[in-house]
Amino acid sequence: MLVNRFDKCWKAASGPLSTPCHIWQRSTRRGYGYLSVRGTAVRAHRFSYERSRRRRLRLGQFVLHRCDTPACVNPKHLYVGTQTKNMEDRKARNPFTGSRNPFAKLTESKVRQIHQRRRLGLTLREISELFEVSYETVKKICSGERWGHIHGY
Ligand SMILES: [Zn+2]
Repeated sequence: MLVNRFDKCWKAASGPLSTPCHIWQRSTRRGYGYLSVRGTAVRAHRFSYERSRRRRLRLGQFVLHRCDTPACVNPKHLYVGTQTKNMEDRKARNPFTGSRNPFAKLTESKVRQIHQRRRLGLTLREISELFEVSYETVKKICSGERWGHIHGY
């Protein structure tokens, strides 16, 4: 049964919110989890939202993340909006995130989360997309070359 299968596909990990993120462990694309429903690739967080609220979403309705973690499928972290709203919300929450900000800095808590995601089995590429930091930076953090004093515990 699809619903039972779904709950075997994520692992809880602490994130920016008080409740843990449910990080999708199967296939991801640009940081978002995907699952196959009757042969069609469906976004895992969208599926999770529809399942928990017991309603179907219309086209153009986006399921957004309060936790800014695309791979998260915890229905408590999801809400419906438009793509524009998503970008505005992100800005409101943290005006300085994003790779375009030349002063983007990693924090200790981010570095801890990077280590956690790595232990959960995410690839360096997936982590770099999740946290919007370069692949090289993630690689250096995971090898201990940078931020070596933090190990994610
Ligand atoms: Zn989350």
